[in-house]
Amino acid sequence: MPVVKRLVRPVEVNYICDGCSQGMLEHAGEMDAQSGAQEHRCMICDHRQTFFWERYPRIEHVGLDEDLLEETAP
Ligand SMILES: [Zn+2]
Repeated sequence: MPVVKRLVRPVEVNYICDGCSQGMLEHAGEMDAQSGAQEHRCMICDHRQTFFWERYPRIEHVGLDEDLLEETAP
């Protein structure tokens, strides 16, 4: 297979707190290796929320010609 390269840009992906709709969630502690459960907590209101196999904030890379797609909340 030939090597291909393309320019990408980093984007920060954050999750806005479902509790106060203002703060951003930050992962707390380690992801559970078995279940993938990852606890998060809001930096403003301390609301706790668990995601599976997902962490916020995180950096994703998007092609320069790609639009940023809004993700739907899990
Ligand atoms: Zn909050």
